Amino acid sequence: MPPPIAIIGGGPCGLTLARLLDCKGIDYLVHERDESEQSTHTGGSLDIHPETGQRALREAGLYDEFKKYARYDDTVFTVADKSGKKLLRIGQRRDAPEIDRRELRKILLHAIPREKIKWGHALKSATLGEDGRPVLHFTNGTTASGFKLVVGADGAWSKVRLLVSPETPHYTGRSYLESRITLENPHYPTLTAQAGAGTSMAISAHKIILTQRQGDSSYRTYFGLPVPEKYFQDKANIDLQDPQKTRDVLLSTHFADWAEVHKDLIRHATDFRAWPLYSLPEAEHLGWKSVSGVTLAGDAAHLAVPNGEGVNLAMKDSLELATKIAKCGVENIDQAVREYEEDMFPRGAKTIREGNVMAEIMFSEGPEPLVELMTSFGAGSE
Ligand SMILES: Cc1cc2nc3c(=O)[nH]c(=O)nc-3n(C[C@H](O)[C@H](O)[C@H](O)COP(=O)(O)OP(=O)(O)OC[C@H]3O[C@@H](n4cnc5c(N)ncnc54)[C@H](O)[C@@H]3O)c2cc1C
Repeated sequence: MPPPIAIIGGGPCGLTLARLLDCKGIDYLVHERDESEQSTHTGGSLDIHPETGQRALREAGLYDEFKKYARYDDTVFTVADKSGKKLLRIGQRRDAPEIDRRELRKILLHAIPREKIKWGHALKSATLGEDGRPVLHFTNGTTASGFKLVVGADGAWSKVRLLVSPETPHYTGRSYLESRITLENPHYPTLTAQAGAGTSMAISAHKIILTQRQGDSSYRTYFGLPVPEKYFQDKANIDLQDPQKTRDVLLSTHFADWAEVHKDLIRHATDFRAWPLYSLPEAEHLGWKSVSGVTLAGDAAHLAVPNGEGVNLAMKDSLELATKIAKCGVENIDQAVREYEEDMFPRGAKTIREGNVMAEIMFSEGPEPLVELMTSFGAGSE
């Protein structure tokens, strides 16, 4: 007999749900696309908020473990203009500590029995069987069925989503180009002296340069650009396999009139990776008519432009869903899902709206709207 719950996706959402179900004695199986724990592509540092991500970790009994990795010093946030002038510096030791995605995944993975995760299980499609329950088809040729509930925690390009909604993410007109400056990089000593802890963001002419210190003290830099969706795939524009040419294009085209302090970040950037930014459509009411035996959580449910909430809301979804399942019981799992979705839909709609507003502010003509916004939240310069 399969366990009652199948979770698709072992990201922050799926693994938080798995751990919380474990704590409540409810059986489940996670199906993850990655071949193993080691094969994960990591992504940057995440700030974990008290009422959402931190609360989920507390309920999962993992808060003390989280605190071992949580970086309060990296909560500093600086806003500058293209000349390098710093306009705002806030947040030293805010209660939104940073943790590397890799570390967060490790904490969650180590709290779940190994046999509960099926690695190398990329969902190809999900259909409804004759009994109206989901059937899972994996790219490795296997299928699985008989679950009382399938939870799509499979991120932006969820394959489970089609069972409940025809919506797909759309390109927002902006992309990040991520790069690294490691401790061995000749620019590292200069950068660490200039940027120090936390995140620095410079904005001009609808472009961004964002620098973020990681857990190993290296930096990730994101160059934000208003470019067409396939811009970074077209070698006629830029060839990411050729770092020197990529640097040349950034220096001569996109950031030609930026100050040397910013251009130095480009001159020393390595390991380029494109992140086109997608969002589910903004609607007054996110949602679908509840489908028996299926639901979504995290980015699969409410993908938004990165606005500092994504991972936090993903973990909150997991907490709310696990709590409802425990309350209603596995025998009433559809009722649990309906109650979860009723609360999750407005939360999801709000984050999509806020993501779009934040994108407009961050990709502005200059840094002033972001400074104004942060000051209106009571953030004063330190
Ligand atoms: C450039 C960038 C910066 C960001 N910065 C922040 C930030 O600072 N703070 C913040 O809160 N959020 C940030 N986000 C958003 C955040 O990363 C997401 O909201 C969060 O990771 C959502 O978690 P999730 O578990 O729902 O999805 P994901 O993290 O996408 O995890 C999905 C999991 O499912 C697996 N999977 C995918 N497809 C399949 C499949 N077909 N079959 C099986 N498994 C599958 C994946 O391998 C992955 O493990 C950022 C996003 C981007 C793109």
